[in-house]
Amino acid sequence: MARDSTPQVTGLDVRVTTVPTDTPEADGTLAWDSTTVVLVRAHGGGLTGIGWTYAPEAAAAVVRDLLAGEVVGRSAWDVPGGNEAMCRAVRNAGRPGIASCAISAVDIALWDLKARLLDLPLTALLGATRDEVPVYGSGGFTTYHETRMAAQLGDWVHGLGIGRVKIKVGEAWGTAADRDLRRVREARDVIGPHAELYVDANGAYSRKQAVRLGHAFTESGVSWFEEPVSSDDLTGLRVVRDALACDVAAGEYGYDLPYFARMAASGAVDCLQADVTRCGGVTQWLRAAALAAAHGLEISGHCAPHAHAHVAASVPNFRHLEWFHDHVRIESLLFEGVLDPGGGAVRPGADGAAGHGLTLRPDLTRAFP
Ligand SMILES: [Mg+2]
Repeated sequence: MARDSTPQVTGLDVRVTTVPTDTPEADGTLAWDSTTVVLVRAHGGGLTGIGWTYAPEAAAAVVRDLLAGEVVGRSAWDVPGGNEAMCRAVRNAGRPGIASCAISAVDIALWDLKARLLDLPLTALLGATRDEVPVYGSGGFTTYHETRMAAQLGDWVHGLGIGRVKIKVGEAWGTAADRDLRRVREARDVIGPHAELYVDANGAYSRKQAVRLGHAFTESGVSWFEEPVSSDDLTGLRVVRDALACDVAAGEYGYDLPYFARMAASGAVDCLQADVTRCGGVTQWLRAAALAAAHGLEISGHCAPHAHAHVAASVPNFRHLEWFHDHVRIESLLFEGVLDPGGGAVRPGADGAAGHGLTLRPDLTRAFP
């Protein structure tokens, strides 16, 4: 294509929506009853790309006030250039947190726009290493009654054929360990002996408590212990990792590459987690995956499954994608073209649809300015 016909990014718009949870939810260290989504649309060449992040409404102001001016007018092909400009633009606002969530939403929209302009699935534009992206069912909130948890896990394992599930533990900052142990045993009873069982304490336990409980969880066949202690306690993660047979994982609060570099280099995890809607979008998630590979680690996609599916397929050291109850529900409410996790994997790009293959539901399209 001749240079003067290169499409430019002509505009961004942002919309915020808050979706109540279907029941009150909590993990070991936080409770919530709604989720806020910041949706970004990037326009150019007569087409529109869609990106999003799960973040407070303030992320939308960051998009409008600090980021839009950095990408509007750029070539739609030069997504990493736009990403770099956005990262530089938030210097004084502070990159980790809301600013990085905002950058992520814009970056995802820009990659989607580029793939749509080239009429390619995003997985084809990035280049695939796999057709199928394994997923694991993620929910099992500490607020769930035992029958609710059993129904959710049973639906994933026995209904959809997803052979990996994760529940929350560490209830009330680790002060309800007996119930944690009981729920883990109940989860194993529901899913049967062969499905993989994961737990996520969201940093609720102390180091020694995590080691003691980790040994007990292992008796129920738990093979993945996420954030057994705070993910800021890299030494503690390493202590727990060295003491237990199961994998220790963390990384969901990684907003920039130095965070992932410190975590990987300290030997804190067996598998690095990264969230494409937080870490700086597709551009930075690919770099986090390369960084993990350099340390001999696999990478797992944290939440926002439809934002991860295509980039996950492009990475050779990818382990699995979190099929998170809240976000699966919200992405199905927002978008047409959502993926089918039947059999335990999604197949991004299999239908040949351009970009990430999602379109806003018509009523939401009308709600945009
Ligand atoms: Mg987690």
